Amino acid sequence: MTTLFEKIIKREIKADIVYEDDQVIAIKDICPKAPVHLLIISKKVIESFQKITKNDFPIINKMMEVCQKLAVEFAIENGYRIITNVGKNAGQTILHLHFHLLGGKDLKWDF
Ligand code: AMP
Repeated sequence: MTTLFEKIIKREIKADIVYEDDQVIAIKDICPKAPVHLLIISKKVIESFQKITKNDFPIINKMMEVCQKLAVEFAIENGYRIITNVGKNAGQTILHLHFHLLGGKDLKWDF
């Protein structure tokens, strides 16, 4: 089944895209949990962090680089959080690997 993020990548659904290259796309979260809430998404459909294999490491490296770059661009480099929900029990709703990049406020554990 096509994931929502694939539809965004193919421009079938609109999103606020803040970064894109051949491996990664990053968008603003539609329902932000912090003043800055971005989603850094692999273009390859990987179900979750748990399904990453060694072959995917170059993509993960790129995703981490993009997190750092966007943290600077959005002026949160002095305090941010990267989260990836894995599976239903962690609240993962879209089965397509993505990192949440959150910042712009004093982050608590129960945000
Ligand atoms: P997760 O629950 O960890 O799988 O994260 C999915 C995230 O995607 C949630 O934070 C949603 O708010 C976000 N989301 C859902 N639909 C859209 C959309 N159309 N554009 C941007 N973000 C979305």
